[in-house]
Amino acid sequence: MAKQRTFIMAKPDAVQRNLIGDIMQRFERKGFHLIGAKLMNVPRELAEEHYAEHKEKPFFGELVDFITSGAVFAMVWEGENVIATARNMMGKTNPAEAAPGTIRGDFGISMGMNIIHGSDAPETAEREITLWFNDNELHVYEKTINKWI
Ligand code: GDP
Ligand code: MG
Repeated sequence: MAKQRTFIMAKPDAVQRNLIGDIMQRFERKGFHLIGAKLMNVPRELAEEHYAEHKEKPFFGELVDFITSGAVFAMVWEGENVIATARNMMGKTNPAEAAPGTIRGDFGISMGMNIIHGSDAPETAEREITLWFNDNELHVYEKTINKWI
């Protein structure tokens, strides 16, 4: 299986509720490798670009308002099959349907505030990583444990 990279974001509700550490710990303990991370306020244009696929949806305005309402914590994680695995770790989009043990299942309540974003496919991951991070914010380094995971 190929090594992949994915874009993960702790949304403003996760930052406000002090869940950054819990979210990162799940990815670390799973065996994924952090190569970029930053706390930031999201410019409206970036939020609109990020969620461009939803621009015609009735909830688009609400979604952009929410993502720009407070700081987010943006991350890039690397690992075997990380894109699909991260989506499984996040749980279903609607926290009411997300299984216990998943991030949204454990912490989320509503569709609007569902704690976390994760890229949904290789093309999306590439697009989102480029949109959110400059090359010099991504750090390539080795861990000695790599051969075990
Ligand atoms: P995701 O890939 O699992 O995040 O889900 P989608 O790409 O379908 O939607 C993007 C984000 O829009 C979701 O994470 C939700 O925060 C939000 N969203 C999706 N559907 C709704 C909705 O019906 N109402 C509201 N308020 N937000 C929604
Ligand atoms: Mg999506």
